Amino acid sequence: MKQRTIKERLEFEGVGIHSGERAKIILHPEGEDSGVAFFKEGVKIPAKVDYVVNTFHSTDLGKDGVVVKTVEHLLATLHLLGISNLTVEVIGGDEIPIMDGSGYYFYRKLKDKVVKQNADAEVLQIQEEVVVRRGDAYIEAKPCSCFEITYEGEFQTYFGRQKYTFKGNVRDIILARTFCFEHEIEFIRKNGLGKGGSLENTLVIGKEKIYNRGGLRYQDEPVRHKVFDLIGDLYLLGASVRGKFLSHKGGHSLNFQLVKALYKKAVLV
Ligand code: ZN
Repeated sequence: MKQRTIKERLEFEGVGIHSGERAKIILHPEGEDSGVAFFKEGVKIPAKVDYVVNTFHSTDLGKDGVVVKTVEHLLATLHLLGISNLTVEVIGGDEIPIMDGSGYYFYRKLKDKVVKQNADAEVLQIQEEVVVRRGDAYIEAKPCSCFEITYEGEFQTYFGRQKYTFKGNVRDIILARTFCFEHEIEFIRKNGLGKGGSLENTLVIGKEKIYNRGGLRYQDEPVRHKVFDLIGDLYLLGASVRGKFLSHKGGHSLNFQLVKALYKKAVLV
């Protein structure tokens, strides 16, 4: 696999789901071995596990007091496209725009702009089984030359239990939106989050219904979105990953725990 960047700069603009502020990002092509990084107020923050400053309801990176929030959906899209060299300049606001809550807008604009570079890309291969736990949630990572992710959810609504396995087809997950349950909204708002959240960018699930007009994009959209989030968080390893993953009720915090554990054990091949 070769390293990849984009042909030309690309812009995205929109609201930050947690801050509620409008933000603009400019994606700049980069040369070989540059890696993926965020750039804001003169500070370059590599998209790596060492720079994670928060995993409560989003994955946020920071360095020298500068923070870029909610990086996971953009990183998931870059991971799926194998884009290894890119700088994301953040202008105004401190959060990546949520767009429609999925990776669709990022993917649609990026997919035809990807260019291969000459150098080989690093690919991280899981060498031995790693398991991380938090309460009754856990994530297992096993060696495999594939990239396969299963998510199992248990939801206290009519969704009940859901399980989905991603086997590499981007179309199966790219439209899956950020979601929240009606009963969580008050708690999220009390924590000063979700200020930019709306039915335009979040699937809102009530006890017996979906509030969004148009309903679901996949009948198991929430678990597909959870897979998408994990793909984004895994890219904080700094390279594409190969392995078989099973997440049982995991979220960003547990994803981060996994990434830290893998950072020590995974071997470059
Ligand atoms: Zn998400």
